Amino acid sequence: MSATIIDGKAIAHRVREEVREQVAAWVKDGGRRPGLATVLVGDDPAAAVYVASKQRACAEAGITGFSHELAADAPEQQVVDLLGELAADPAVSGILLQLPTPDHIDGPRLTTLIPAAKDVDGLTPLSTGLLTKGLPGLRPCTPAGIIELLRRHDVGLQGAEAVVVGRSDLVGKPVSALLLAENATVTICHSRTRDLAEVCRRADVLVVAAGQPRLIAGDWIKPGAAVIDVGMNRTDDGLTGDVDFAAAVEVAGLITPVPGGVGPMTIAMLMRNTLDAARAADERS
Ligand code: NAP
Repeated sequence: MSATIIDGKAIAHRVREEVREQVAAWVKDGGRRPGLATVLVGDDPAAAVYVASKQRACAEAGITGFSHELAADAPEQQVVDLLGELAADPAVSGILLQLPTPDHIDGPRLTTLIPAAKDVDGLTPLSTGLLTKGLPGLRPCTPAGIIELLRRHDVGLQGAEAVVVGRSDLVGKPVSALLLAENATVTICHSRTRDLAEVCRRADVLVVAAGQPRLIAGDWIKPGAAVIDVGMNRTDDGLTGDVDFAAAVEVAGLITPVPGGVGPMTIAMLMRNTLDAARAADERS
């Protein structure tokens, strides 16, 4: 048996195209054009690349991009003031403070200044609370992208055994909460889990976000399972996931490759969150 490979690149492209069409229709109907403000402090090259690709995605989707670049030695108060201005600006539907920030700035703490209604990354404590309570709110992009991949492949989540390997605030915990919201039976594993292989073998849906190249062997996978590999590990063999893909593809029913699986979904869901934030702001005003 050979698994169906989930083409995350194609699905992400479709999501972005849908957002572009919905933005155009929304603006045509008199809605305020969605706007995404990115805040980049300093000159971390990876952070700059991420911000540039998010701004490019905005331009393609018809979302106004507001790009704020602050010097590496900008005082923390300057970032605080800027976040306050963006929070109050009705043209800004979503705010993104790109991490990491320089050492003298407590980036994670400053993200808590972003109001939940504009938290398009969906990672602030308030957004996390809304997610775990099942209240409306903006959901974290990578986890939401994982659910979108499963949905578009008609993977039934209701009552399914879902196993998540990893308990980070960025991926493991929020994707577990989203799977639970879909009525899956969710088990969360981590570095202290006893007999990880045996737990993984129970999974109808296996989501792996451990950051450990090829941690998951082929014989850890239940035949026919949907396997979502979030891992992005730079190794001597290039970019590698957390799953032994060559072995897993022979056992699983569905599987994401690395690269080209989960990765492209993150920015697509960021675009969707920005549109959702603009719509919700309009409903409130
Ligand atoms: P993280 O914060 O380092 O968390 C890793 C988690 O995996 C921790 O909960 C850790 O357990 C667990 N873990 C590590 N080794 C393990 C092992 N041998 N057995 C069981 N559990 C183990 O990582 P993250 O931010 O969630 O990212 C995970 C991976 O996804 C990385 O490769 C990252 O690059 C990738 N990623 C991709 C995207 C994307 O595609 N867009 C987005 C985000 C992250 P403990 O809690 O016990 O330490």
